[in-house]
Amino acid sequence: MDGDLSSTATPPLEGCGPALADQLSLPKPLRQRVFEYVRGQGRTARSDISRALGISPGSATTLTADLIRANLIREVADPERGQGRGRPRVALEIVPEAGHVIGIKLGDDRHTAALSDFAGRLICDLTLPASTKARPSYQIVDEIGALLTGLLEKAGKTLRDVSGIGIGMVGIVDHAQGIVHWSPLLDSTDQAFGAAVEERFGLPVALENDANMLTLSELWFGAGRVKSDFAVVTLEKGVGMGLVLNNQLYRGSFGMGLELGHTKVQMEGALCRCGQRGCLEAYISDDALTREAATVLNLAPDTDGPASTMAALYQQAAAGHAPALRIFQRAGRFLALGLSNVVQLFDPALLILSGERMTYEFMYADHLSADVQALVLSQNKMPCKIEIRGHRDLHWARGATARALADMTDRLFNTETPA
Ligand SMILES: [Zn+2]
Repeated sequence: MDGDLSSTATPPLEGCGPALADQLSLPKPLRQRVFEYVRGQGRTARSDISRALGISPGSATTLTADLIRANLIREVADPERGQGRGRPRVALEIVPEAGHVIGIKLGDDRHTAALSDFAGRLICDLTLPASTKARPSYQIVDEIGALLTGLLEKAGKTLRDVSGIGIGMVGIVDHAQGIVHWSPLLDSTDQAFGAAVEERFGLPVALENDANMLTLSELWFGAGRVKSDFAVVTLEKGVGMGLVLNNQLYRGSFGMGLELGHTKVQMEGALCRCGQRGCLEAYISDDALTREAATVLNLAPDTDGPASTMAALYQQAAAGHAPALRIFQRAGRFLALGLSNVVQLFDPALLILSGERMTYEFMYADHLSADVQALVLSQNKMPCKIEIRGHRDLHWARGATARALADMTDRLFNTETPA
């Protein structure tokens, strides 16, 4: 077989997917575990598969031969392993062209889609503007249609090349049923949105809360690959959160878990847009900051919407205007309070802070880690590392491709009859 190795000149694929997953404890068929190990490594050898999965070299040979026959993985020459004497070494990698998926982030004023191959590589992406008003779900399905058309045209592909779609949406989402219980994008509750998209485009659809998609992006392509427990907190119009425990996305029982923005930080406190009082979001969202700005700085609220008030507030803080700086600093202390509760509850190794509002650096500059540490019950140096990321919409969409890839892989191995 050494004579007809494919793509001898291509650089190794980068691995993707959770790298720390305990391959021996996963309730998946062995063939799938072998496949996922190869995808996770990017390029690997049979001997490494045998060692990592605790199977005999003979089993590794049989299982990989089966996956090669199914055109899911392929043999490639491995120059790094071929230095010594004897046979040229061969390695294994995913066949990237074996399938494609699309990931979508539905946003407050724009949507972003990403096309990925079977190895998780980004092929192309597209962002289109969207309405800022709540609307019927069929309209959003239409918007997804325009996004898919533009994306596939750009990539020179058709829907027939696509095996599944992942969609991240802000709101309370039941991922198992594909139901959106509530979202600011929709004008009604309890919508079977996943089924509507599936029906329109004839493809399997995986729907998630958008913060979960960003978390999957870190788990599959980012720093989260090598962390078994980590949290992602997002500051957008609202405050979102995703959590990975033991290499798996944690979702709770009813789809309302991890709404960090609506955990209470003050009894009988400020009114939140959810209708309750004292929520974290009521102290650190744009609405909260612009309300403060209106009273403290006499900035006219909402003449051109909160964005212009926020811009004015930000400019004043950048110019060193103390009252404006204090507004951001106060919000920063509430942010630290919220994050310290996350650290105290889950003890993650890494906490990634992300989202559009991270441009307001006065909220977290210099002191955030220290503020969080001061609120956590730990005498020692706080083990949780806080990292600030400037995630763009594409990262969220790529997380949605990871979800679609995971689902596609499950379908592939559950429906195939073992060779
Ligand atoms: Zn609330």
